[in-house]
Amino acid sequence: MKAFRRKLCAVKTVLKLALLIITVSSAACFTSNQTILAAPKEATRTPRYLFLFIGDGMGPAQIKLSEALLENGRSLAMTSFPVLGMATTHARDQLITDSGAASTALATGSKTTIGTISMAGNHLDTLRTIAEMAKAKGMKTGIVSSVGIDDATPACFYAHNASRSNLYDIAKEMASSGFDYFGGGYSAGNFPENQAKSKAFRGDIKALMQSAHYVIAHNKTELASIKPGVHCWAYSDYDSKGALSFAMDLRNGNDIELAEFTREGIRLLDNPKGFFMMVEGGKIDWACHANDAAAAAHDVEALDKAIKEALAFYRHHPKETLIIVTADHECGGLSLGNSANGYETRFELLRHQNISMQGFAEKVSTWKKRGTVTFPMALDSVKTYYGLSLTHANSALALSAKDSTALHEAYTSTMKTESAGTKIPDTFSPTVTGILNSRAAIGWSSNAHTAVPVQVFAIGCGADAFKGFYDNTDIAKKIMKIAKLKKRVI
Ligand SMILES: [Zn+2]
Repeated sequence: MKAFRRKLCAVKTVLKLALLIITVSSAACFTSNQTILAAPKEATRTPRYLFLFIGDGMGPAQIKLSEALLENGRSLAMTSFPVLGMATTHARDQLITDSGAASTALATGSKTTIGTISMAGNHLDTLRTIAEMAKAKGMKTGIVSSVGIDDATPACFYAHNASRSNLYDIAKEMASSGFDYFGGGYSAGNFPENQAKSKAFRGDIKALMQSAHYVIAHNKTELASIKPGVHCWAYSDYDSKGALSFAMDLRNGNDIELAEFTREGIRLLDNPKGFFMMVEGGKIDWACHANDAAAAAHDVEALDKAIKEALAFYRHHPKETLIIVTADHECGGLSLGNSANGYETRFELLRHQNISMQGFAEKVSTWKKRGTVTFPMALDSVKTYYGLSLTHANSALALSAKDSTALHEAYTSTMKTESAGTKIPDTFSPTVTGILNSRAAIGWSSNAHTAVPVQVFAIGCGADAFKGFYDNTDIAKKIMKIAKLKKRVI
């Protein structure tokens, strides 16, 4: 532990230096082509409407990349906020955190160990969350996420568990929370394999929610028909992990986007006593784990669309609304610039990618099952979905002999027949994605999270408190103080 603290001290010094650099470069990057929203002069009131947006895995580089890919020099709404701060993200036991420990910090103001859901590191003490405090104060409460509603980040606001992997037991706490609105992904905990892992199985989560008087909305029409005051759990189509599609992938007409879940949440929660709403852009993190820059950038934009819904509400209630936008941690060690390109950047090449790497990998998986897709046919798909080809007029999109060899090796390896009990990984999809990322001057240093501090954008009543450099636990403490929420161990 002492060694960890010494390491933490040394890294804190480096991080403070990094903050200076990031703050200076952020100022240069974020102020072009945009209007900075003016900070309201009056900040003495207690906000009635609290929004906390969490971009999972969204560091400053993810934000800048997303902004660089917007058409016509547009900016993200979040970078127009008048207040900018930065927060460290370390867990109690590890410098590089996970969404459990980080979101526990954001939800409760306390550090905990990796993988823990709003409990102290001893796994005995339950930590009260700002959402629970808001509910106790008479405010309505809503939890929205683009990944499973029992995934670590949303879970940390309504559940308490020693391990984020106890998905079914976490999901059960939705029903007992008394919160007004859950929206976004489905409950992965309700998948049979996760039900089976529970030592305290009490039946289907949907049935538990209905017994607790939640109305379940499965699509846009059903969600739109729910009246304010009715407790609601809303989801639409979801993937094999219970999450919404990546924002850049095709969706069917019934899919509900993160911004729509947020807008409907505001409609359902709006009341004179106020509300607290947490909205997570969870797939930014998944894209960064996959080192898929285009998918990450699109999901940052999807989160920003949700933030615009809160901003529209803020404009009607500027003296009573506080909006905070932050991240639980950075993911992937994303760098904007790489050794191959030196001082050149070609982020616009990522616009040629029109499917997430996960979406492309699903196609590769079907090729493997069919067994009839040859390497030239695979290269045709590379051109269709990534814009890369052997004979492209744009030299930046032309595959070199070295690229072609790497793709051929990855294709051959991926298409090998699997023998019983062995799973051959798809190396073709990451190779294609890696070539385009590298050409675009994108660098990735990790497939995991990093210890890079994250930005905090704030606007509205009490926003000034979020200036400066502080710890992620301070974000929750500041919200408690500004909104007069009472902290105590249950
Ligand atoms: Zn992650």
